[in-house]
Amino acid sequence: MHLIYPFVIFVFALIQPSISQSQTDSVSKPPIVSNPKFWSKHFIDRQGYPITSIVLHSSFDPKHSYDLRYARIKKVFDRYRVSAHYIIEPNGKIIEMVPITEAAKHATKCKPRDYNLFSIGIELLHVWNGEGSERRAYSLKQLEACRALVRWLKSFLPIQTVVSHRSISNIGKKDPNMTPEEWAIAADGAPFPDPWPRNESSWQPSIQDR
Ligand SMILES: [Zn+2]
Repeated sequence: MHLIYPFVIFVFALIQPSISQSQTDSVSKPPIVSNPKFWSKHFIDRQGYPITSIVLHSSFDPKHSYDLRYARIKKVFDRYRVSAHYIIEPNGKIIEMVPITEAAKHATKCKPRDYNLFSIGIELLHVWNGEGSERRAYSLKQLEACRALVRWLKSFLPIQTVVSHRSISNIGKKDPNMTPEEWAIAADGAPFPDPWPRNESSWQPSIQDR
């Protein structure tokens, strides 16, 4: 007993620094509003797929394009029977729409076809005014909230890629329309997946483009 007790103290002194280090390195969960009244019922079973990808999107309601609150966009999503896992308002508020244990319907017509099953969808509420001088910047609060969310998800899931909806869409989706600088923040340093500058001058915002 007399011999073991000092030994225990010695071992604890040895491992104590490593415990402190791992706590410093751990990624904290960002504030996420998780309330059943905000949840979507439009999701499918993951069918056992591991979650290996995060898809960034942007969304808005063309009829009320400057109302970028979740309450507004949820009605549009429900009408089209689509969903995402997380919605981020311009003020940086993150709202859970579908639990990550389920597959949200955010990347349905994509390459590969089963993209919903192995991915997490994050929608940033943002008005897209098209190319050129009308483009509006994303707020830093929103980009940083996205980065915190991406970083947290990567800390406990086998995430291999963070991609834009545009880069995987089979039907010409163009969101989230970020500059490389905005993407670097939102995607936590993942490679910029989109060509820039763009030359799609004929494109206009529509309900399909989100
Ligand atoms: Zn999208």
